[in-house]
Amino acid sequence: MSGFVIERHPSPNFDNRACTISHIILHYTDMADCDLALARLCDAEAKVSAHYLIRRDGHIFHLVDEAARAWHAGVSCWRGEADMNSASIGIELDHNGHKDGKMDAFLEAQISALIWLLQEVTARHAIAPQNILGHSDIAPGRKIDPGEAFDWAALHKAGFGLWVDNVKTEDVLPLATGSEDKAVVPLQKALAAIGYQITVDGSYGPQTRAVISAFQRHFRPAKIDGIADAETQTLVYALCRLV
Ligand SMILES: [Zn+2]
Repeated sequence: MSGFVIERHPSPNFDNRACTISHIILHYTDMADCDLALARLCDAEAKVSAHYLIRRDGHIFHLVDEAARAWHAGVSCWRGEADMNSASIGIELDHNGHKDGKMDAFLEAQISALIWLLQEVTARHAIAPQNILGHSDIAPGRKIDPGEAFDWAALHKAGFGLWVDNVKTEDVLPLATGSEDKAVVPLQKALAAIGYQITVDGSYGPQTRAVISAFQRHFRPAKIDGIADAETQTLVYALCRLV
């Protein structure tokens, strides 16, 4: 007995996958309530969807068959795969998003339902725990969901997603927009090795800043400023060694 309810609520927004399922992408709905999100994700005009939507109280809606390609990732890329809709299962979390740069915590009932669903989905498709990502990871500079209030550390403790902690911050100089330091190349290479879409050109431009912000939103949520300070760099290299 799972204790979790899955309600079928079919969305017309899907097509055929072009590759096998290897990832799970987490989102927040950025809407006032679940009914509004449900209506939008099932609106043929909106042309958006996800496989699942989890209400704040943990009730799970199943919108698109896992075998089909839902439309949640948009323009995105991870480890060179640009058709993330084909390569993933999309899960939306009912949440009102960022308001004035701040966001509410996710509720325990919702996260418990998510963890249960992840157990089911990863088992069905043999998805590696490290292939559970946020929308912001695969679309830096364009998407910021599920947001820094999403507790990736807790998810990792439950067996899903990437996390790194207990690493001693190395004594290195910060890198920021405009840095032409030779340390930019290895940093960009490490971010690419983790999976982020980034051009290794040795220049700390808008793309690198956006990727560092996405990295921080996931792995160092206390401070998201796009500056690769010593702690951020240490975490990037520590994570790179894990993947
Ligand atoms: Zn999203």
